[in-house]
Amino acid sequence: MRIVIIGAGASGLMAAVTAARAGAAVTVLEQNEKPGRKLLATGNGRCNLTNLEQLPEKYRSTCREFPAQALAHFGARDAIAFFSEIGVYTKNRNGWIYPNSDQAASVLEVLLMEAEHLKVKIKTRETVIGIDRENGGFAVRTSGWSYPCDRVILTTGSPASSIEGSCDSGKTLAAPFGHSWIPMLPALCGLRGSKENFAAWAGVRMEGEVTLILDGVPIRSERGELQCTDYGISGIPVFQISRYAVRALAEHCPVSVRVDFFPDMEEEFLIKLLHTRQKQCSYKTPRQSLTGLLPEKLIRMFWTKGTDFETLARRLKGFTFPIKGASSLAQAQVCSGGIPCSEVCPDTMESRLQRGLYFAGETLDVDGACGGYNLQWAWTSGFLAGSSAAEEGTL
Ligand SMILES: Cc1cc2nc3c(=O)[nH]c(=O)nc-3n(C[C@H](O)[C@H](O)[C@H](O)COP(=O)(O)OP(=O)(O)OC[C@H]3O[C@@H](n4cnc5c(N)ncnc54)[C@H](O)[C@@H]3O)c2cc1C
Repeated sequence: MRIVIIGAGASGLMAAVTAARAGAAVTVLEQNEKPGRKLLATGNGRCNLTNLEQLPEKYRSTCREFPAQALAHFGARDAIAFFSEIGVYTKNRNGWIYPNSDQAASVLEVLLMEAEHLKVKIKTRETVIGIDRENGGFAVRTSGWSYPCDRVILTTGSPASSIEGSCDSGKTLAAPFGHSWIPMLPALCGLRGSKENFAAWAGVRMEGEVTLILDGVPIRSERGELQCTDYGISGIPVFQISRYAVRALAEHCPVSVRVDFFPDMEEEFLIKLLHTRQKQCSYKTPRQSLTGLLPEKLIRMFWTKGTDFETLARRLKGFTFPIKGASSLAQAQVCSGGIPCSEVCPDTMESRLQRGLYFAGETLDVDGACGGYNLQWAWTSGFLAGSSAAEEGTL
């Protein structure tokens, strides 16, 4: 079985190793000078490769059941076992799994060593520009060459991030086979506010809770370290709600967020605390009494002339502002959208429209929450595409 894989990212390399282990002759075509560029950047260079907490809601798709169905074949434990087998000793940080080396480079290197051992050919600086049906199989075209094969696995990723090679070429490569495309939008990204005064709080990092409000209805809340920026708000809790915010905006739904800087305290308790602190040091002005409780930038932003503790507490627990959009595609970690999963079989990742054509990774309409779920999706879908494509059988 001759298989060509388009894209040497996380899912493409997983598909390559799996298919080669099953006996296929595998060629991977990668447009960058080197494979795995995005993988190297994961987890701030440390690579959060999966997560032990595998809940269905951690994976998002227009076809809700699709990711869970695929993950039932190859889940987090399987990914950990796979990496341990090829040399990655893992460590567990509250369920978030990393290589013991804390180096994404070591995850990439062991994948490449395994691929080399299995005689997978990786051709870099090869941008695929088309896939044709030829002699009962396929011919994968680059500008200078045509690669004949029996099966094709498309793992071209998404345009998220400014990392070289990030693009949506999956759309044009799959279109001739009748595949449609859900527009790719930033996910796992900061959110841009429509108020102009965010410069005042830029740089503040504080634990808190952010609630996404769609058309006036609170949808979901996330807690963790909030990062206040000059365009709005960011940080992991914001990342977790961002894909819902961005997709709602695309559907012209009014979106806002509410920030609670004291989610563990009732408003009444916070008011009491503010009064007690001032009584304790009665030589201070009310504004001075805030030092030590709040970052100076938040004091300046929320303590304006005529403010009292009651108003301040209300602002700190319910600062609400409309959202205009995402930070930017270049700053996003992943994208939502891509090839609709209704057009793909969840057990094999084979196209329902073209036998012999497979998909894996972010090019499919599946995106995960922050915490190793996007790489897990790359491993799961790459494994399924690689093992199914390598199976002998008539097309
Ligand atoms: C900064 C950052 C940090 C992240 N951290 C994490 C993390 O810690 N944990 C986690 O789970 N996820 C993380 N992610 C997300 C994760 O990296 C991606 O979801 C994952 O890499 C997607 O794998 P993929 O194989 O689908 O795509 P990619 O890894 O992007 O690979 C696609 C490849 O296809 C190539 N390609 C595209 N078109 C063509 C073409 N026409 N011809 C030839 N080659 C082509 C590209 O050059 C690229 O190399 C992070 C993402 C970013 C940007």
